[in-house]
Amino acid sequence: MAQNKIVSLFLSTILLLEACERQAEDTTLASEEAKATEAAHKDSPRFGAVDEARLSNAASDLDNWLSYGRTYAEQRYSPLDQINDENIDELGLAWAVELDTNRGQEATPIIVDGVMYISTAWSKVMALNAPTGDVLWRFDPENIGAKAAHACCDVVNRGVAVWNGKVYVGTIDGRLIALDAATGEKVWEEITVDQEKPYTITMAPRAVKGKIIIGNSGAELGVRGYVSAYDAETGDLVWRFYTVPGNPADGPDGAASDDALTELALPTWHGEWWTLGGGGTVWDSVVYDEAFDQLLVGVGNGAPWNHRYRSNGEGDNLFLSSILALDPDTGAYKWHYQASPGDTWDYTNTQQITLVDLKIDGVVRKALMQAPKNGFFYVIDRKDGTLISAEPYVYQNWAERIDLETGRPVETPNARYLDGPQMVLPGGIGGHAWQPMSFNPETGLVYIPAMTVPLVYAHNEDYEVHHGRWNTGVTFTDPPASEDLKGTPEQRRAQMSAMQKGYLIAWDPVAQAPRWTVERDWPWNGGTLTTGGNLIFEGTPDGEFEARSADDGKLLWSFQSHRGIMAGPATYRVDGEQYVAVLGGYGGSMGMATPDERNKFIPPNGILMAFKLNGAASLAPYEPLERPAPAPTNETFTAAQLETGREKYFTYCTICHNGPTNPELDRTPYMQNANAWRAIVIDGALEANGMASFDEYLTAEEAEAIRAYVNMLARDLAGKEKSAE
Ligand code: CA
Repeated sequence: MAQNKIVSLFLSTILLLEACERQAEDTTLASEEAKATEAAHKDSPRFGAVDEARLSNAASDLDNWLSYGRTYAEQRYSPLDQINDENIDELGLAWAVELDTNRGQEATPIIVDGVMYISTAWSKVMALNAPTGDVLWRFDPENIGAKAAHACCDVVNRGVAVWNGKVYVGTIDGRLIALDAATGEKVWEEITVDQEKPYTITMAPRAVKGKIIIGNSGAELGVRGYVSAYDAETGDLVWRFYTVPGNPADGPDGAASDDALTELALPTWHGEWWTLGGGGTVWDSVVYDEAFDQLLVGVGNGAPWNHRYRSNGEGDNLFLSSILALDPDTGAYKWHYQASPGDTWDYTNTQQITLVDLKIDGVVRKALMQAPKNGFFYVIDRKDGTLISAEPYVYQNWAERIDLETGRPVETPNARYLDGPQMVLPGGIGGHAWQPMSFNPETGLVYIPAMTVPLVYAHNEDYEVHHGRWNTGVTFTDPPASEDLKGTPEQRRAQMSAMQKGYLIAWDPVAQAPRWTVERDWPWNGGTLTTGGNLIFEGTPDGEFEARSADDGKLLWSFQSHRGIMAGPATYRVDGEQYVAVLGGYGGSMGMATPDERNKFIPPNGILMAFKLNGAASLAPYEPLERPAPAPTNETFTAAQLETGREKYFTYCTICHNGPTNPELDRTPYMQNANAWRAIVIDGALEANGMASFDEYLTAEEAEAIRAYVNMLARDLAGKEKSAE
């Protein structure tokens, strides 16, 4: 049992998802929304009036937060200083809106002329009166619930784009939808992915020069990554760039990527990578670089993770784990920088890309900054992708350094786990995930929500491709003794657990060193916002929304929201009054896959909150829902059943049912009834909630074997909880 819990802890750093609670529709009265719309509309001539000139000048537009990272440069810095380090203790809740689900909330709100536009879990969209929180309209794209089984990391959505009177959202089932910014009515909708394949979308679209840029997710499930540009007015596809080559036997795609794939990428691939798509999804970062009129695109990991299975262990596998520069009008290739050649760890470069002018050795460089999963902070010249510098922002053990001459990492012995299992830091969840970082030009510091979450990688000798399910080609095993881990297996496991930490790092990108660090006892902290008031705002998984001084990191203010906060905050001003808004709601990959024994309650529904000076609102009383007690049956199961159940449980169940967000299987009452269990697992009785049928992967006997194993887990858990009383 202890062994199984340990394995489950290791699995916890992998990020899958299956079953999901999708809750009943909110039933706000349409007439109230119409009244609120009228009130918000009276001073605003047009909803969603964002154009190229406005986006270009967004940095000096203090009232608004016009795009995902506030400006094209995505620094997430606002010069607003009405709320500042001297009056922060007067900050209070202005308003809050409770959401319809306890699934993860990752979106950054966009604020245009007193109206807030935001997406929530299941790719729903809301418009609100930004100073009052009155809901103007709501949009539900009506995703198929079972699609949640294809979402590696929860049914999250990171935000909308606003352009020329329209609001754009990418949906978990792969659509791009344009809504009327005034009414929320659908203007057009395009299916951006092959609906037969396990693609999803969680990223915020970006509006660039009359086009809407959108990528997709699903590398672990087996897809081929790409990024597309759609005409903002008509929804017509303008160009598409595939990040990895397809099957050469199929010939060119007729896409913007054809030449770059043939000339640069194809020679770096081996074997039959196309059977699982190769990966390389563009699932988060896309920024428009006005200075060089180029789009900078972050590309994800390979499918499967294990380079030996993906590409016979040979080749760099371009453009995985890279930043790509593309022509925004045509999608044509300009340059690339690959951070982790031949990725074999799930090291994505999809993390936020931030544009900045940095004075380095007396010369101002037009640079991009990125803290990708692999643990190094990169400063890269945007002119041609030349690496300027790269130093580790968290402890890492896979590379000795990044060679500035070649731009390539110098890997440590056995980092690729070719000679047996290896504990690697960062693990697959990364030193930094999608949680946005911010850059304050006054302090010159980047505020990174970082973490250390180790993972033991071992070559999986028995790996079989599971189309539409998780594919790593890796076994997550007990940690071997190493420089980082010493003593007995038990001691080594304890050392690994102790390494699991969260950090807020204030990073000096010129010196490539931390100025200060806040250490937290849990990873998966929220995105950061920094302001002209010498402040940083950041949420925590424990529900705190914190403000710190930007120069020295001192904690100045905190608000307990009772929801883990992951999303990036935004700030804006209406009628001369400054607000800070953030979404609360725990989930995402860690919410699905990582047990959090510190909290004995079921995460409550998410919440959207806005704060202002002397705000006097309060949250509805928090009534914590206790996790159900384990209630196993007294049935007898055979040893063979338990063994089959154990294997299938770890193959199919834990990635989504290991964390606090989805129902915990060792506490579900469904384990008591074989018919109910079969109806859910095989017949898909809870598909609408996000729990897909596993008919394609499991026989009825195997589903029953999982029930047997879950009953055993529940017995162990009940015994443990009783002895702890
Ligand atoms: Ca991944």
